[in-house]
Amino acid sequence: MRPVSVDPAQLEALEKGLSTHFGFSAFREGQADVVDDVLRGKNTVVVMPTGAGKSLCFQLPAMLLEGTALVVSPLIALMQDQVDALTARGIPATFINSSIGDGERAARTRAMREGRYKLVYVAPERFKSEAFVQAVLESHVSLYAIDEAHCISQWGHDFRPDYALLGQVRKRLRPPRTVALTATATPEVRDDIVKVLLLKDPTIHVAGFDRPNLFLEVTQVSGDDDKRRAAVALAREAGSGIVYCSTRKQAEGLYEHLAKSGVDAVLYHAGLEDEERRLAQERFMQSKTAVAVATNAFGMGIDKPSLRFVAHAGIPRAVEAYYQEIGRAGRDGQPARAVLLFNHADVYTQERLIQSNFPSETLFVDLWNALRHLEVFDKGVHLLASQVGASEFEVSAALKVLEREGLLARGGKGEGHYEVRVLPSAEGHHARNADARTLLGSLRSTIPHAGRVSAELSTLGARAGLDEETARHALSLLEKAKVVAVKRPFAGRVVTVLRHESWRELGVDLTRLRRQEQGQLLLLKRMTDYAYSKRCRRAFVLRYFGEDAHFGQSCGACDVCQGARLVIPEKEPREKGTALKVLPDQYSHFAAEELKRFRRELAQDLGVPPFIIFNDQTLFSLAAALPANQEEFLRVKGTGPSRWERFGPKILDLCRLARAAGDVPQRTAVAVKRRR
Ligand code: ADP
Ligand code: MG
Repeated sequence: MRPVSVDPAQLEALEKGLSTHFGFSAFREGQADVVDDVLRGKNTVVVMPTGAGKSLCFQLPAMLLEGTALVVSPLIALMQDQVDALTARGIPATFINSSIGDGERAARTRAMREGRYKLVYVAPERFKSEAFVQAVLESHVSLYAIDEAHCISQWGHDFRPDYALLGQVRKRLRPPRTVALTATATPEVRDDIVKVLLLKDPTIHVAGFDRPNLFLEVTQVSGDDDKRRAAVALAREAGSGIVYCSTRKQAEGLYEHLAKSGVDAVLYHAGLEDEERRLAQERFMQSKTAVAVATNAFGMGIDKPSLRFVAHAGIPRAVEAYYQEIGRAGRDGQPARAVLLFNHADVYTQERLIQSNFPSETLFVDLWNALRHLEVFDKGVHLLASQVGASEFEVSAALKVLEREGLLARGGKGEGHYEVRVLPSAEGHHARNADARTLLGSLRSTIPHAGRVSAELSTLGARAGLDEETARHALSLLEKAKVVAVKRPFAGRVVTVLRHESWRELGVDLTRLRRQEQGQLLLLKRMTDYAYSKRCRRAFVLRYFGEDAHFGQSCGACDVCQGARLVIPEKEPREKGTALKVLPDQYSHFAAEELKRFRRELAQDLGVPPFIIFNDQTLFSLAAALPANQEEFLRVKGTGPSRWERFGPKILDLCRLARAAGDVPQRTAVAVKRRR
């Protein structure tokens, strides 16, 4: 932790303000320096982890300066929370956003102009209203704060087009000082914040990322089996923790294994009923040994300082996300462990996920050709998906873009008719969830025997006395219990096609989409770099966030400096396997992927299963040996003269490509034939 550089007399004054206005006895790391700079009128960028106390960095100056602080925040819920907390302390604060009626908005705007608030929180789109900008210009603004400032950057995860306006707003408002705050700051994001906000020579403060009691470790695993055994070992050694999984399915499998192995395991994911989730959370909080197996839906608002470990069974999408999740361990200051169970195949899974979020131009063309001659489309997203040969996920992502481009309009969620049929199994069924029970009762009484009803969700709900959201949840519970069959309208939303020109005539510019895709792939690449890092991981993370890191010989808190801690226990003897002899860092991933593609295509052409061409062992051995000539090729186990005849030279080409791409294995593999 760096010492505070504020001079003692000033620090004392600031501490007095801190205690008078907020009731806190001391600053947290970094806060005093920022507050001091902001008061001096410097433009500042603040990068601190979530929960470190960034809000105070503009809230205290707001109290110490004359006038009103204008705070931009992206989420209504965030504004509400902060304003509630301030109001509870007797600080005059409010928010102005779309959640309040026109009359109330006008009243609050007027009160702002009259200087009746110390802080006013606004959503970025508020500045699109000229009347509001005028009102701000007539107010006495003490400072302009941009919270969650990474939303400005297309390189980050939460780009908001409205945030892009904030620089121009700043230019018009000419506030005496600006402070931008975020927990995520790759160099690209930080540059964007400075550039978009038009900040000249801002002071940049990065603080609070170092967690010396958190031991960082990456363990190479070859698949789910390894992951399961590793998770059991960790739970036995370390105590209470969280194992994060990438999918519900993975979580369910891992949970089952842990429970069977005698671990006090708790399953948690968004697909559970509210009651189940609440119980899981409660049990997790109360037990000293509980291990939560969870998707990343778990953790927000979980405050268990005595967590001894956080493990990941899949690679997270970015270092920021990873660091936030592992940061939940060891909050009591006692030693804790963060283990990434790493398998390179998981990277491909994440890549595919990102790519389907950013559909290809070809998909847009196909989708548009399917839609452009229609007026409305209300059939079902699966239909569109099969028509264009893409996943529903991809098609939904593409529709979102088309809507943003103004080419189509989508009805609100829940619009359109649901078709519900009560199944014979409903007879005598007793739903555990009270809402589901109510809905089922109402459906039974309105639907003729063996018949069906077609109505909007809100109508179905209203008949049962439930609001729309509750009805949606209750209906899906009944569907899961197989007592009703539901045909949903088009992803809940009817599409109205607004333009009818050809894709080319529309001239849609997809560069922004491509840039965001590149941004997310880059974030994933950095996370992968962390997994492969041969240098200190503690330093890696600190440098990633922009903090200085000098630990000399050993940081004392990572596997690279201190040696691995987690040893995955051997498999049970009965699980005799044909496990691969080649480890992930022993082969070229580039070559392996190319070889797989080549094998798949050749197998398709020949109409045979891929392993007939060559099996996985041979594939990875080739990717490890990267043969440069016939002799080297033949030395690889599983090859032979006839295979050389058929595709040897083609494989040498692929291996040459891998070399040219610089993707050569770090260690030599073992699976070569013995020399005769
Ligand atoms: P961030 O925006 O960095 O995620 P917040 O500003 O929401 O974090 O602060 C997290 C919590 O820490 C809040 O409950 C806040 O009241 C508290 N907090 C901030 N600074 C201090 C301090 N100096 N002393 C005690 N609590 C603090
Ligand atoms: Mg915050």
